[in-house]
Parts: sequence; structure tokens; C-alpha cells
Amino acid sequence: MENIYISKIRINQTGYSDALPVTAAFLMPGPVNIRDKNGNTVKTVDIPAPSFDEASGDDVILADLGILPEGEYDLECGSETRHISVKKDPWQDVTDALIKGLYYQRCGCGLDQKYAGKFAHPACHTAKVSVWEDMSVIKSVPGGWHDAGDYGKYVGPGAVTVAHMLYAYELFGEGCSDDLNIPETGNGVPDILNEARFELEWILKMQREDGAFYHKLTKARFAPFIMPQDDLEPEYLMPVSHCATAAACACLSLAYRVYRKFDEAFADSMLKASLAAYKWLDENPDFVPFNNPEGVHTGQYGDKNLGDELFWASCELFASTGDEKYKESAEKLFADASHFTSYGWADVTGLGSICCLFDLKEKAGDILYSKLKERFIGECHKISEICERSGYDTALPADRYMWGSILPIMSNAMSIILYEKLTGDESYRKHALSQWNYALGLNALDICFVTGFGERRVMNPHHRPSGSDGIEDPVPGLISGGPNKLYNYPQTKEKLGDAPAAKCFLDELPSADTNEIAIYWNSPAIFVGAFFRLLSR
Ligand SMILES: [Zn+2]
Repeated sequence: MENIYISKIRINQTGYSDALPVTAAFLMPGPVNIRDKNGNTVKTVDIPAPSFDEASGDDVILADLGILPEGEYDLECGSETRHISVKKDPWQDVTDALIKGLYYQRCGCGLDQKYAGKFAHPACHTAKVSVWEDMSVIKSVPGGWHDAGDYGKYVGPGAVTVAHMLYAYELFGEGCSDDLNIPETGNGVPDILNEARFELEWILKMQREDGAFYHKLTKARFAPFIMPQDDLEPEYLMPVSHCATAAACACLSLAYRVYRKFDEAFADSMLKASLAAYKWLDENPDFVPFNNPEGVHTGQYGDKNLGDELFWASCELFASTGDEKYKESAEKLFADASHFTSYGWADVTGLGSICCLFDLKEKAGDILYSKLKERFIGECHKISEICERSGYDTALPADRYMWGSILPIMSNAMSIILYEKLTGDESYRKHALSQWNYALGLNALDICFVTGFGERRVMNPHHRPSGSDGIEDPVPGLISGGPNKLYNYPQTKEKLGDAPAAKCFLDELPSADTNEIAIYWNSPAIFVGAFFRLLSR
């Protein structure tokens, strides 16, 4: 992208809401003239002088231009002009696309042209699979979503993705469209739940007879860049793991409560599986972190802590059953818990927080409501401070741009949104909106990270179907992991040199380290999108 001119005005490239303040970043001094489509100046805004932003190396100021009525505008600053659109409900398309992005990850079935258009393909990964530790055991485990740029399917990451979606639905259901043009559309169940169910049905199949969950279903090595239907090397059920079992236990218990009113039998089957998983964890207290068996080179997702998964599972089972033993377990785990605002695959304490603070509420009791609330709010204040220190109001310190930096950025937006819902204090909302704007183009790279959107968009994600289908456009509705300074491939390092953290990004297919996609990066963005859709309709 180095030859493409980057504007010194950075905007949300998918548009702005007429109900929320318009913000844009300026890499030069103001004032800013806002002109309507007839060229008339609507208002002139004096903005503070730009200042140095450590993460990007830019001299930049994020300016609040106030609320603008629906219309097309030009932002003029110095010799620069940038066009913006202000609309009612501007983020329906992108939020819908982020949910539908998961439909395109469906495995074990074909993607029909009726739903997938030019991205249709025949069924993939339908063959029976062997258990890695005993190849004579053959099972049929089709379904689930391809995890990321690869075709593996992993229980823990799948469970957190579903949880983000179910809590998005529970808290901001009206912000999720019910018309996503997926095979189940129109069946009387909201489409976000239809899509999540596709993964849940697969998670259920990943349970061993004794209640434990297989960690993952993958091949021994990642496939080359071929279409999924051409990936015919055998897949294996890799050994069971404590973390996968506890994450599945939690997610299935949550799903039980959400799906009960739509399909009681399905909901009951999930609670039964969840209880069996918990029993297995009780009977197998010696935690063994998952490591790839010898000869296996697919994603490890090797979590070294089980306490957070157990905490989440205990909270969810207390919420589903009312049985005090789960509450007692969660209270014990609370004592050593931290990161009450973490919702990623490795650290899921925050999902237990959501369960206690927004589902159980006062029923959770003094420790799991009052004390947890205090800790949660304390962490939200810290997130706000990180935003205040950033020139782009980004919720990530300069030294934390890691593989998939979009996850902490979207996670922190989730926390700020939950803070507002918990306290009624709207003063941090602007920070949550800045993270949403970041994902959609208002960032140091001037790039929209969601495929299919924005005037400067991600075109070459590390995603096998997008890289092998012969179609120029990538599969739409997938969010890129974004800049990563902490661990880079040698070839990435060579190309980026000593670029500042927030600019360590290559829109190039081989750069999994900066430009992969993942189901559990889409899902927190869905949560954030659903919230802002509710505010802008
Ligand atoms: Zn597949």
C-alpha cells in the first residue's frame, strides 16, 4: 500500500450516525470546515493542535465535530478534504456482514449460491475422522466453523465466539438483523442465534462419552492455500483438554438459557452436556495444559490457566441451575481471579463477569455481584485512561500490539459498553465508539479492517478461501487481526523495518501475523456493532 496516498484526515469509512457525535482524526492543525453537498459551510470547528502519539508515531488529534444531520459532507482541513456520510442506522450492513462472515466459515456443508453468491462452494471436510490417540476409533463430526485463516476447528475458541454472540443477542438483540440470508432465515429464530447454533451443534459432537471435550478437530498440518472442498487430507480428533471442556461447559450452559424459549429439547441437550463436562472436571482435578501431540502442527491454543474457564463455567451453571455448589466454586475461584474484563479464548474471566453482572445480578450475592462489580468498574476506568493517552483514542497501549490486536481493542470496547450498561454513566461511550471507528477506518493506517467495506479496505487477508477462490474480492464480513509489533514473521519484519506498533501491518496474504482473520475476532465486533446500531436507529 506504500504507493497509495493516505489522507491526513482519518474517518469511519462506513459512515456516521446522525444520533452520535462525528469524530475524525487530523494529522494537521485546524480549523475544520464542514461543507454540505452544495458546498455550503455547515460549521467551522476549531480543533486542538495535534500531538505525538506513541503507538502510531503520528502527530494527530482526534476531534469531536458534534452531531450532524443526515447528509453527505466534506471535511476540509488545510489543503485536505475528506468525504463523509452521515446516516440513520449506518452500521446495519457491516454488523450484518460480521455475523454472516461466520456463515462463510461453515464447515461440513456446501455454501449454496443462494446464500453465498459468488463465494459458493461444495461441501468440505465431510469424511469420517479418527481419534488421534487410537486411530481405530472412527467418528463422524461434521459441522462447526473454520476457525480462522485455516480449516481447523477448535472447541475453546468456538465456545467464546458463541458466547460473544449470545450475550450480544441477550443485551442488544434489537441491534442484530433477522434477515441475513442464511439457510435458516425466516424460521422464527433470530439469525444471530441460527448462526451460533451451527457451531453449538458441532461443539456437542466434540464431547467424549465420559463428558470431556476433544480440544480440536484438525489435520496434522495446516492445508496449503486451497479451497476447503479440495482439502482432503485426514482430520483427527486431538486429545481432550481441561480448558476445552470447561469452555464448552460454560458456553453450553449459557446457550441452554438462551435457546430454551425457542427449542426446549435442544436447550436440554446442551445443559446435559454441560453438566457432564463439569462432572468430568470435578473428577479430573489434575490440570494438564494442552500441548500438540508429536507430529501435530496446527493451532495449539495452549492455555496454561484453567481457573478462568472454571470460573466462567461455575457462573454459567449457577445461573442455569441455581445450585449453590456452582456459586461456592465460583466464589472460591474469584479470590485468585483477575482480568475481569477479558473475553478472549485464553482468558475468559470476563465472560463470567457478564454472567454475574448482567444475568444473575443481585442473585449472584455479595462476592459475585458487589465485589466483582467493583473490580470490573476499576478495570473499565483503566481502559478509559489507556484511551485518553492515545492520539487516536485507541484502547491499547503502544507496547501491546500483538497478533490479533483487534481482539483487545474490541474487548475493551465491550467493557466500556458494559460499564455504561452497569452504571448508567455515558461519559466513556465516546471511547467505545472510537474502537468501533478504529475497526472501520479511523486509525493510523487509514484502512477499514472489515473485508468488503471501506474505500481503503483489506483485500488480501490470510484466509484460505479468499486466497484460493480466484475471486479478486476477499470473502466479506471478516475482520483482520490488524497491526502486530510483538511477534512478526521474519519477512514481515524485513518489510516493515522499525515501523511504529500501530502501523505494523501488511495487507498481504502470507502475513498471518498481521492480516489473518478469526471467528473470535468477528464476534466481539458483532457485540460492539449491535450496541451502536441500537443507539443509531
Ligand atoms: Zn470445512
